[in-house]
Amino acid sequence: MWCCVRVLALAPLLALSLPGSTRADPPQQASQPVVLFRDVRIFDGKSAALSAPSNVLVRGNQIEKISTGPVPIDGTPNATTIDGGGRTLMPGLIDMHWHAMLVRPNPVQSLASDVGYLNLLAGAEATATLMRGFTTIRDMGGPSFGLKRAIDQGLLPGPRIYPSGAVITITSGHGDFRQITDLPRTIGGMLSRVEQIGGSMIADSPDEVRLRAREQLMQGASQIKLTAGGGVASPFSPLDVSTFTEPELRAAVEAAENWGTFVCTHAYTPAAIERSIAAGVKCIEHGHLMDDATARLMAEKGIWLSTQPFLDDGGEGGADQLGPAEQAKMRQVIAGTDTVYGLAKKYHLKTAFGTDILFSESEARRQGGRLAALLRWYTPAEALIMATSTNAELLALSGLRNPYPGKLGVVEEGALADLLLVQGDPLADLNLVADPDANFVVIMKDGRIYKNTISK
Ligand SMILES: [Zn+2]
Repeated sequence: MWCCVRVLALAPLLALSLPGSTRADPPQQASQPVVLFRDVRIFDGKSAALSAPSNVLVRGNQIEKISTGPVPIDGTPNATTIDGGGRTLMPGLIDMHWHAMLVRPNPVQSLASDVGYLNLLAGAEATATLMRGFTTIRDMGGPSFGLKRAIDQGLLPGPRIYPSGAVITITSGHGDFRQITDLPRTIGGMLSRVEQIGGSMIADSPDEVRLRAREQLMQGASQIKLTAGGGVASPFSPLDVSTFTEPELRAAVEAAENWGTFVCTHAYTPAAIERSIAAGVKCIEHGHLMDDATARLMAEKGIWLSTQPFLDDGGEGGADQLGPAEQAKMRQVIAGTDTVYGLAKKYHLKTAFGTDILFSESEARRQGGRLAALLRWYTPAEALIMATSTNAELLALSGLRNPYPGKLGVVEEGALADLLLVQGDPLADLNLVADPDANFVVIMKDGRIYKNTISK
């Protein structure tokens, strides 16, 4: 026994001193898998037109070469050629407002179920999300750290996750899912169920906000999310209320900025948005009830708008799972969808695309359809640029806390290889993205092929 312990303790030293064991290996580059997409027209994430027929070489997890001329790979070990046949190669889609842990369960299940079961549900959904062509999601609330880790380790297929961890809210705010019978809270007493599982944390002073923000950062949050105003799915937060005080919001901003990242706030109303901006928040989530003056302020200050098309088309983000009072709030927000996109266009706001689909597996299948719904306000190219390179620009705001350093949302040399091969031209017909099963014939994330229906 003693002997084994001694050998184990020496193992790291032994590994270092074994002669030539690693140095004799061929250079790592040669063993990395290589994929050549031959004869593809490229939507690069930025340009409104497709490229001339091109060849794209992926080595490891990066795009190494893009050329209209031949790219020879003869003799390259571990190489795959995909004959694009003139199809469109584009960046993987990015959803900037997702809740990986809350898509599949209904509201009651999300609070009352065993955490192991919730994680397995989320894992199944993460695989489905990737297979819809969403290669990256920004998680705007929920305990997604374990899921992210498992996906990154290759335990299951799923998108890249930029986690926020728990949403930070106030007593009665959006994210406080307690009942009246849970009151009064004993200071220092037991946490509510949603806090115990890391879904949201209730904080009622700058110090509490700072503590909860730092706890999310400690777990690997790439950005911090607070609810600055009322929300649809919470039982005790009217839509019109502003929740955190400015010093409370600023406490989170300071904690995040000290950590090299930033704060996003859930905010529908002008008051909630303006207070967020005053406190140093960099990104407003939703904004559906904003007004002209608020939009102008966002433009002046360079504040991001991360929003989504909530529409009255029978699928409004799982609203059928909500009670009548919540559904009434949902209708008010839906009525603001046209306003928010109108103002975003009028003031050229930096606008990111997300879906915020909750509590509904069937609605999640319409994730790509949500993107296609942007056709009411944008051209196909504008919508696709938003869901790829523009979204990636917002992801990069996490700075050194970015869990996936490298370029996302573009098809260019040196970028991370998250790619979709599309049957048809999505710049001509955006509705192609609404049917990923039929139209995304290859799905690649981080250089690895997760779907390939082209016969070889
Ligand atoms: Zn949300």
